[in-house]
Parts: sequence; C-alpha cells; structure tokens
Amino acid sequence: MKSIVKKKAEVGLWLEDSPIPTPKDDEVLIKIHKTSICGTDLNIYKWDPWAQKNVPVPLIVGHEFVGEIAGFGRNAKGMKIGARVTGEGHVTCGVCSNCKKGKRHLCSKVRGVGYHLPGCFAEYMTLPVENVFFLPDFVEDDIAAIFDPYGNAMHTALSAELVGEDVLITGAGPIGMMGVAIAKKAGARNIVITDINDYRLDLAKKMGATLTVNVNKSSVKDAMKQLGIDEGFSVAMEMSGNPQAFNTLIESCRYGAHIALLGILPPGTAIDWDKVIFPMLTIKGIYGREIFSTWFKMTNLIEAGLDLRPIITHIFPADEFEKGFEAMMSGKCGKVILNWLE
Ligand code: NAD
Ligand code: ZN
Repeated sequence: MKSIVKKKAEVGLWLEDSPIPTPKDDEVLIKIHKTSICGTDLNIYKWDPWAQKNVPVPLIVGHEFVGEIAGFGRNAKGMKIGARVTGEGHVTCGVCSNCKKGKRHLCSKVRGVGYHLPGCFAEYMTLPVENVFFLPDFVEDDIAAIFDPYGNAMHTALSAELVGEDVLITGAGPIGMMGVAIAKKAGARNIVITDINDYRLDLAKKMGATLTVNVNKSSVKDAMKQLGIDEGFSVAMEMSGNPQAFNTLIESCRYGAHIALLGILPPGTAIDWDKVIFPMLTIKGIYGREIFSTWFKMTNLIEAGLDLRPIITHIFPADEFEKGFEAMMSGKCGKVILNWLE
C-alpha cells in the first residue's frame, strides 16, 4: 500500500510502498479516506529535537484521519465492515490507576499513533478496537479528518464556563480558530484572539472572533480598552506555544480567571508567579481529548450547527503530500487535508 514514512533520521518524509498491516485480535483494520496534517507531523518532517527523541525510524506517520472498517481481529466486538470511523490516537495502557478508574485521558503510559506507533498516512492502518469512534452521517469526511485537533480545542474550551464570559485565546493556528468557533457557539460575550499572522487572524475572525490582535501591530490591552473589558479576561486559552504569548495571557486575566494551557511551551519558559498567586488564577494543562466524552460533545456540537469548514484551506491527493507540508510551513493555511481515495 501507499504510505508516508519517516524513513531516515533526517529532514523529510518519503512516499513508500508498505505491506497492508494485519489487525491483531483486539484491533481493526481501517481503510483510510482522508488524513489531515498536524503541527506534530511538521515537527517530524523537520526532524526537530522532540521528534528525534520520540519517533522510531522507519515509521508510517500521521494521526488525524477518517476511514472505514475493512477488517478486524477475532476479539473485536461490535465492528462492521464499511462503517465510517475516526479514532483516538492516544493508545492507553489499560492497567495504570487512571485507566482502571476510567480516566483514560490521564493514562501515564500513553503512546501516540503516528509518532510512537505506526500512523494513518497510508491506505490502511490498524487501531485498537477501544480507540475506534463511529461517525454519524452528518459528519462529513473532511470534518471527521480534523476531529483530533477539534478535540484538543473542545477539551481546552470545556475546562471553563464560557456562557457570557470574556475569552482570550493566544495563537490563531487551526486549534485556536476552532477554540474561537466553540467559544462563540457556547455563548461567550467577547472572544479576543492573538497571533502574528494576519492570514490566520482573518480566518479566526470568520470563525466568530469579536476582535483579532496582531501582537506585532497592536496589543491585547488596546483590545480590552476597545471592548470595555476593564478587569481582564475571565477565561483564557493558550494555543500558541509561544512564551511571550503565554505571559501576555497571564497579564490579561482578571482575578480568579481560568486558564487552560494547550500550546506546548519550550522548556525553561519563565513565569512571574506573583501574577498567578495574588490574582488567584487557576491554570490547567491540557493534553489530547477526554476519551470519549470530548468526542461526543464534538459530534453533538456539529449536529447543533457548528461549521468548521472555513478552517480547511487546502486539500491535496496523498501523492502530493509535499505540497501540503509546504502550505503548513508557509503559515498561510488552516487545516491541510490529504486525500487517500483514488
Ligand atoms: P500552530 O503552530 O499551527 O499555531 C500556533 C499559532 O501561534 C501560529 O499561528 C503562530 O503564528 C502563533 N503565534 C506565534 N507566536 C505568537 C505570539 N507571540 N502571539 C500569538 N500567537 C503567536 O499550532 P496548532 O496546531 O493550532 O496547535 C496549537 C498549539 O497546541 C501548538 O503549540 C501545538 O504544539 C499544541 N498542541 C498541543 C496539544 C496537546 O495535546 N497539548 C495537541 C495539539 C497541539
Ligand atoms: Zn494507563
């Protein structure tokens, strides 16, 4: 089968012929329809220090996908050939205390599809049955292909009450844009989003941001003045992974604000703890999605009319994956999709 492989421990990805995998007893075989490129895939492409530490070579990469069940092992219950599915890319151990308590998202031995385990950038992949998520017809393939990052946005957004609140999001990448759309749908009063990229801020505006701030040209303080937010934001989501953005976010919050950190900040990111302790901020780290409560919320919100389609800016045939990575590197993109069907 066709597959995109991290073949060598150097910059790049390679289109390779790989054997179709055989599902183990408790796995399904999924025929891939579409996949989507994540920032993580870009880090693997660039072979950054994180990728060098985590990714065994050679490995089929990718973890955002939609497809259909094409086979399953003998212990797989409730599976149906042809059923449309996506799936949770965090494979949990099932035996640690959190897994035993039913809190799989807090598994301490989690492994990731497409960076620890073989991924979905291929015509077929295998996945543990317990990670499969069945899709209702109203979730079209393009949207299902971005369910994984949509889940990151939903998990982050759900960590605080949004109705009637003033929300600050730092970072208008695809996940920040989705954060805007969710906060809007959930009834936030004001949603301010920052970035340094006007293309992305324009998309965030389309998704429902009240005000967008290019921090190279203006400031969050100005936005607060303009909107009459005197005491600061009550909810904030860090979705850039940038230390400066993180510090701006901390400084723009009101006393007692709820902050969720999704963006992966570099080691050694400094923080003035006085600005956390005295205003009594609550900070929560977010990783992945709650399995599967976040997924059902995502599906339900789409049925309720949340439209993520404007965030999908590029679609390429899988053979032309290099163009997809170029779009990602340019920053002039939302989500980039690769099509695996002929
Ligand atoms: P992305 O890299 O596409 O988006 C980040 C955005 O931040 C970019 O548009 C960039 O221009 C912007 N940015 C850079 N400097 C900024 C600054 N000073 N102020 C404001 N914005 C700035 O990433 P994404 O796919 O949207 O993901 C968002 C973040 O979440 C990334 O850091 C990613 O690594 C992280 N992530 C975390 C998880 C998790 O489970 N914790 C999962 C997926 C992604
Ligand atoms: Zn576990």
